[in-house]
Amino acid sequence: MTEDETWNPQIDPDICTGCGECVIACPTDALELVDDVAAVREPDACNYCGVCEEVCPEGAISLPYQLVLVVDG
Ligand code: SF4
Ligand code: SF4
Repeated sequence: MTEDETWNPQIDPDICTGCGECVIACPTDALELVDDVAAVREPDACNYCGVCEEVCPEGAISLPYQLVLVVDG
């Protein structure tokens, strides 16, 4: 299994407003704000729960691996 890198949320810095909602909502503290843009601080901590994608009011976060899981299912 070498997919670890692809399991991280993808955050579009051009869309992110730096509101911090995802940082607050993340249950594993995997996210942080860097220069008012959300970033994955602890990739290993992310459990791919999808909360950050749900709470982001701008739709700036996507979890691309979810699509693969759906197709596989
Ligand atoms: S998917 Fe879950 S654990 Fe991973 S960064 Fe988003 S809220 Fe945090
Ligand atoms: S919730 Fe969305 S807009 Fe707000 S900081 Fe996170 S990625 Fe950026």
